[in-house]
Amino acid sequence: MKNTTRTPGRHFLQIPGPTNVPDRILRAMAQPIIDHRGPDFATLGRKVLEGIKPIFKCSGPVYIFPASGTGAWEAALINTLSPGDHVLMAETGHFATLWRNLALKIGLEPVFIDGDWRSGADAAQIEERLRNDKSHEIKAVCVVHNETSTGAVTNIANVRAAIDAARHPALLMVDTISSLASIDYAHDDWGVDVTVAGSQKGLMLPPGLSFNAVSDKALKAAKTSISYKSYWSWSEMDGPNAKGYFPYTPATNLLYGLSEAIDMLAEEGLDNVFARHKRHSEATRRAVNTWGLEILCRNQHEYSHSLTAVMMPEGHSADNFRRVVLEHFDMSLGSGLGKVADRIFRIGHLGDINDLTLMGTLAGVEMGLSLANVPHNPNGVKSAMDFLTTQAD
Ligand SMILES: *Cc1c(COP(=O)(O)O)cnc(C)c1O
Repeated sequence: MKNTTRTPGRHFLQIPGPTNVPDRILRAMAQPIIDHRGPDFATLGRKVLEGIKPIFKCSGPVYIFPASGTGAWEAALINTLSPGDHVLMAETGHFATLWRNLALKIGLEPVFIDGDWRSGADAAQIEERLRNDKSHEIKAVCVVHNETSTGAVTNIANVRAAIDAARHPALLMVDTISSLASIDYAHDDWGVDVTVAGSQKGLMLPPGLSFNAVSDKALKAAKTSISYKSYWSWSEMDGPNAKGYFPYTPATNLLYGLSEAIDMLAEEGLDNVFARHKRHSEATRRAVNTWGLEILCRNQHEYSHSLTAVMMPEGHSADNFRRVVLEHFDMSLGSGLGKVADRIFRIGHLGDINDLTLMGTLAGVEMGLSLANVPHNPNGVKSAMDFLTTQAD
């Protein structure tokens, strides 16, 4: 690093969340705090509680918590389930493992379907487990839509079909923390009972808000759940939410930001947002393939549109490579988590990015590979440019 205290230009935050917050959202949040029980607040509260629904493609309530995504994981489970309930979960990677560990800690009995951290959840295995559960001990199936630690997506419609084929009454819960507003998602159409989301990824907000979108079936299950809950209780939210308020002090300025994000996503159009992410993920994979590096996700039909996880050649440290990129180019790339620590790095291409953000990112990766002496073929950046120019927006 140069001997200076100032780093010119902007930091490239290309981890798969938190993502870059657009200036427009930062400005929307730079406001005096208002009385969260006063009349002005209700306008904001109503707008975000209603305005978030088209993003989940849901018609039922969406509960908003002042918490990171982990809080919404816990809320989904303790509002609907009771201690000792079995939950079927799929080991797609680090985040699925964390959700399962959380379930254990709050007294549930997770049944974990082993995975290789290179693919999405297998609907056929879920169906088989459910068929074998004749006494319906399994109360919920929980899957991560976009496994952020591996860049593999689970087909949620297939999981729904598996539950239906097994004629099993389990609830379906889905973590969309790194896919909502980046990869197409349909809470109602896919028959999801609780969708868990967070603010700091596709929604382009700072960390600090998380969400539960909820079906009628989940609301019904909540009536018989006997898990201890207070802060996370959906039913405590219902009365105040109906008038645009919250039962405790909400994260007022993050809600200003959310209001702006809802407007921005509507202006661009969700389908355009999804197409942009898909196009940038394809350009990224072309660069990775040209470099001759391996993509962690094994199956093409499961490739994530919000991030790409890249395997390091044998004998090379991913963390050293990321350190070199940070020191030389002021760019943060995602680390390998859990089982794949130091074996992979992750390129985040979700949120508020355009073609040149992506090209700057890929150029930083290619230069970093050279500086860290990681064997690779040059011209990855060129492959991505060729793709973006032939598939112009
Ligand atoms: C980021 C992420 C989380 C963790 O959320 P926090 O906001 O850090 O609590 C959980 N699941 C997935 C899929 C994520 O990408």
